[in-house]
Amino acid sequence: MTTLGDLPIRDDLRGKQPYGAPQLDVPVQLNTNENPYPPSAALIDDLALAVRHGAATLNRYPDRDAVELRKDLADYLGHGLTGRQLWAANGSNEIIQQILQAFGGPGRSAIGFEPSYSMHPIIAGGTNTRWIAGARGEDFSLDVAAAVRVIEEHRPDVVFLTSPNNPTGTALPLDVIESVLAAAPGMVVVDEAYAEFAREGTPSALTLLPGHPRLIVTRTMSKAFAMAGTRLGYLAADPAVVDAMLLVRLPYHLSTLTQAAARVALAHREELLGTVDTLRAERDATVDWLRHRGLRAADSDANFVLFGRFPDRRAVWEGLLERGVLIRETGPAGWLRVSIGTRDEMAAFRAALEGVLG
Ligand SMILES: *Cc1c(COP(=O)(O)O)cnc(C)c1O
Repeated sequence: MTTLGDLPIRDDLRGKQPYGAPQLDVPVQLNTNENPYPPSAALIDDLALAVRHGAATLNRYPDRDAVELRKDLADYLGHGLTGRQLWAANGSNEIIQQILQAFGGPGRSAIGFEPSYSMHPIIAGGTNTRWIAGARGEDFSLDVAAAVRVIEEHRPDVVFLTSPNNPTGTALPLDVIESVLAAAPGMVVVDEAYAEFAREGTPSALTLLPGHPRLIVTRTMSKAFAMAGTRLGYLAADPAVVDAMLLVRLPYHLSTLTQAAARVALAHREELLGTVDTLRAERDATVDWLRHRGLRAADSDANFVLFGRFPDRRAVWEGLLERGVLIRETGPAGWLRVSIGTRDEMAAFRAALEGVLG
């Protein structure tokens, strides 16, 4: 039997592990930060209509530049943005890959402040971009002076800031992002996958776009928008950044059906984002409950909570799984992350955790 090691694979990929959040068929799935609410019957009908319409021209390639979708995305984001400042791809992971293809690559480097999104270093690896692991504080915040120091020391080509951060839930104040922009010699990517879940009054890095052509804000329809299965991520930036994406994207990367589905979802945004308040309330209640239970729980502006600490987190994770609740073993040693589900799912999580902890 041939194993991967027998193949003439790139040396830098040898021995690496693939991204692997377990996809298990258990009753309560709280491990990948999806929105637990499925599309309504009305939305399903509109999606089916759009697919039917799109199907009539599937012999032709899709709009290579997704012009109408990008206009719709600009309209959703507001902030005076136009379609020229938006770019879309198959999930924000593909967006991040395109950013690193254009601004990272062999001989270049990217930095993130950990614990943070595990895909940033993995995509850096895939694009042969050297990864630099910066650090967050004990409370998972980002110390501006320390961040600026490490950027000045390493002079990375790309800086990743994730706000709210995954897996900690920590949102970044705008002045931190501004200081990083001032210090960074290259591109600054603010990954705002969870922006819609942030507390009222948490400003988006979108407000910093005017006058900052090296700033890129990435978003996704996988989380608050409840469309993880659609695979639609996007960025907002200076039009010159979009021009850079055109150089590296594969032609016709976004299928006709993806573009159509995303546009329908955007048209239904009021309904789709209507679950955000419920999820935020459930999140805050989960943090309160965990702390009441004598555990530590990180402050969260997202749709998940990092909690702990456990001498043997694997045992806790497995105990929950035995009770039909799948969460994520991620973050610093001793911590676990639970995504916010429906009220019933969170009750099941609490009951299972009580069962495990005794
Ligand atoms: C989930 C997540 C993404 C989204 O990925 P998609 O490819 O859009 O599904 C991006 N960034 C962070 C920090 C995430 O947690």
